[in-house]
Amino acid sequence: MATAAATPTGRTSAFDRHDAPEVEKVLDCIHCGFCLPTCPTYLVLGNEMDNPRGRIYLIRLASEGQIGLTPNFVKHMYSCLLCRACETACPSSVQFGSLMEAARGQVERHYARPLAERWLRRFIFSLFPYPERTRRALALVRLSQWTGVPALLRGTGLLKALSRSLAMMDALLPPPGAVPAARPLPEVTPAQGPRRARVGLLTGCVQRVLFGAVNEATVRVLARSGCEVVVPPEQGCCGSLQAHEGELEPAKAFARRTIEVFERAGVDAVIVNAAGCGSVMKEYHDLLREDAAWRDRAAAFSKKVRDVSQFLVGLDGDARLGDVRLTVTYHDACHLVHGQKVRTEPRALLKRIPGLRLVDLKESEFCCGSAGIYNLVEPELSLRYLDRKLDRIAETGAEMVVSGNPGCNLQIAMGLRQRRLPIRTGHPVELLDLAYRAAGR
Ligand code: SF4
Ligand code: SF4
Repeated sequence: MATAAATPTGRTSAFDRHDAPEVEKVLDCIHCGFCLPTCPTYLVLGNEMDNPRGRIYLIRLASEGQIGLTPNFVKHMYSCLLCRACETACPSSVQFGSLMEAARGQVERHYARPLAERWLRRFIFSLFPYPERTRRALALVRLSQWTGVPALLRGTGLLKALSRSLAMMDALLPPPGAVPAARPLPEVTPAQGPRRARVGLLTGCVQRVLFGAVNEATVRVLARSGCEVVVPPEQGCCGSLQAHEGELEPAKAFARRTIEVFERAGVDAVIVNAAGCGSVMKEYHDLLREDAAWRDRAAAFSKKVRDVSQFLVGLDGDARLGDVRLTVTYHDACHLVHGQKVRTEPRALLKRIPGLRLVDLKESEFCCGSAGIYNLVEPELSLRYLDRKLDRIAETGAEMVVSGNPGCNLQIAMGLRQRRLPIRTGHPVELLDLAYRAAGR
């Protein structure tokens, strides 16, 4: 374990030296407050310590040894959605995501969480990063649904009383029959027509189990756009959930493995269709900044990572798309719009589709409350953000809401079901795939 750092005031920092929040990044904050109106937690909770400026101040105090890693400190670090809307608003280019992940890393190393929290986190991190375990757990849940026990627990409110997090997991799960069984993807799919690029596809963890159709659509669209698509079977989790939650060592191990796998595949670009994964993969060099053996490899890898919409727009695709007669609205996933600055590309792709009417979503950049595992560890708070999102979606009159992140799609779909709103959810690449099919391709 790295030792605690001494501070200029002679106090002992609450942080150790290993992956500590960088002082220069803390000092970038000029306390202007421009970020405050964009911060969902500040808008909902109204507390200075639940906005970016307040959180950076707390990190500074802990770094200088003026406060310790108290329950209060931990509360404000984890009430943050890590949506990074503050980064988009900040005139001083504060790297808030990097600071927060480093602060959380310190919490995870030095703070003794209550037992129930520890178990919940252990359960989450031993399940979701492993698609095969998640698939088996899902099969068990589906089996138990035949017995009627889950419905009874839900109906009597017992499930919620037992654990609000479990009740949230239950609510998030799409109804039986709504998730087609994910089919294995070919290791190599040839390009249609002249080959323009050889790309690798990250299939994700939740995406692979619950949204296999999105991966299939991504492969088809890329192949039709002239790409040879490689899906390395040995790929695993990218480490994004762990990185956002401060579980830095497991996140780094997943990152190293992902880099190795795609290096071996010899691809021109690594395509990602899940915003949270793409965001962390584009920042592997920051995650591995203290690892001299991997830093440069990580930087070279990160340069190849592209969100699928970004890549397809860059390919300047052909115009042979058929009609898709739908009214659609677009929700900006935080880790796409704020984490990767991908804002116009998905909209540009949707506008290429004949017959599709794209309607504006007010506050499209406001977090839906999914935020990695936030909806599981902070279910009540998460629902408050979702409510605001659903109000805005309902105003659009759209038949479908699309976003580039599986977590957002699960969260929004749950809210739409609960409000009985007849609006479907999807990924932009699925609509592009439909348009190709409508053109008979
Ligand atoms: S990441 Fe999002 S929730 Fe956290 S401080 Fe920034 S704007 Fe607020
Ligand atoms: S906008 Fe940037 S510099 Fe200003 S208070 Fe927020 S984080 Fe600090």
